[in-house]
Amino acid sequence: MIPLVDLAAQHDQVADEVAQGWTEVLKTTAFIGGKQVAAFEGEFAAYLGVPHCVAVGNGTDAIELGLRALGIGPGDECVLPANTFVATAEAVARAGAKPVLVDCDDDTALLDVDKLAEVVGPRTKAVLPVHLYGQAAPVERITPIAESVGAAVLEDAAQAQGARRHGRCVGSFGDVAATSFYPGKNLGAYGDGGAVVTTRADLALKVRLLREHGSPAKYEHPVLGFNSRLDTLQAVVLSAKLRRLETWNAARREAAARYEELLADLPQVRRPVVLEGNLPVWHLYVVRVPRRAEVLASLHEAGIGAGVHYPVPVHLTGAFASLGHGPGSFPVAERAAGELLSLPLFPEITVGQQERVADALRKAVERTPR
Ligand SMILES: *Cc1c(COP(=O)(O)O)cnc(C)c1O
Repeated sequence: MIPLVDLAAQHDQVADEVAQGWTEVLKTTAFIGGKQVAAFEGEFAAYLGVPHCVAVGNGTDAIELGLRALGIGPGDECVLPANTFVATAEAVARAGAKPVLVDCDDDTALLDVDKLAEVVGPRTKAVLPVHLYGQAAPVERITPIAESVGAAVLEDAAQAQGARRHGRCVGSFGDVAATSFYPGKNLGAYGDGGAVVTTRADLALKVRLLREHGSPAKYEHPVLGFNSRLDTLQAVVLSAKLRRLETWNAARREAAARYEELLADLPQVRRPVVLEGNLPVWHLYVVRVPRRAEVLASLHEAGIGAGVHYPVPVHLTGAFASLGHGPGSFPVAERAAGELLSLPLFPEITVGQQERVADALRKAVERTPR
C-alpha cells in the first residue's frame, strides 16, 4: 500500500525533539499559551518574512478571524474560487458575509483572474486567492483588481507553506493571510491548528483579541470574541517541523519532477501546470484523467492511495446550494472536479514507490477506453 500522505515517516524525524518538548510542557502543565506558542509564532513569522503571526485553533478559524479583523460581516461580499476546499467559503459565511464564487483557470485550477474583474463591485470587501495544491495564485494581478474596488486581499495559504512567487513567500502578499496546520498539510501539527499572518499590526492585535474571548487582559472583554487558540503541545511539534520544512518542500519538488518524467509518455494524463514565477511546494500532485472513477478504482485496487481534491466544487455542495448556482454555473471548475486525481506525494516517497504509482496509473488509463 502506498498512502497519499505518510505522516509516520515524518514523525520519525522529529520524534525525539517532540518527546523532549512535550516532557517540558507536561512538567510545567502550561497547556494553553505558554512560551512555546509565542516562540512558534515568532519563528513562523520570521520564516515567511512577515512581521506578525497569531496562532489560532485551525485554518478555518484563521480565515474567519482574519476577515472579522478586517471588519467584514453581514452585507459584505468576499470573492473566492469555486475550486477550493469548502473551508474557504465556510469561513466567509461564518463571518456573516456572502461568498461570491469565480471559476478557475483550466491549466492551474487556480482562480481565473480574468473572471475576477467581472464579479468585483462596491459590495466586495475582500478577495481570497487560494494558493491551491502548493502553488501561489497570481497575486500581483489579483491585488490591483481588489484595490480598484477598495477590497482587502486575504490569502488562503493553507496548502502552500513555504511556496514562493517571484522569490517571496505566500502569506506575505495580502493584507492578511491564513494557514492551517491540519496534520496532512506541509507543516502539520498532531491535531488541529492554524495561524493568521499579517504585515498590519492593527489586524494582528484584533485577531489576538478575537482568539481569546475578546480579551486583552484577564476579565476585560471589550469585544465579543471566540475561543480559538493553538495548544502548547502543538506549538512544540510545529517548531520542530518548521526547522525541516525547507528540506521537506525541496524533497516534494524532487518527487514532483520525477512524476513529470515518469508520466511524460502518457497522453491521457494531464500533468499539473506551474505558473511562471512560482516555486511550488506540492502540497498535492494533481493530474487530470478521463473517466476518473474507473481510474481511481483501479489505482485503489493496486494499493495506491490516490485521492480527489475536490470532487464537488463549492457551489454544488449542499452547504452552499443557497447561493443558487446550479450545474453549469462554473463550467471549468465543474469539468476539473470530474477529472482531478491526486497521486501519492510526500517528502519521504521513494523512487520505487513513485514507479509503482506510475505503472499502476499507466495500466489504469490504458485499460480505460477514452
Ligand atoms: C485545510 C484547508 C483549510 C482549512 O483548514 P482547517 O485547519 O482544516 O480548518 C482552508 N483552506 C484550504 C485551501 C485548506 O486546504
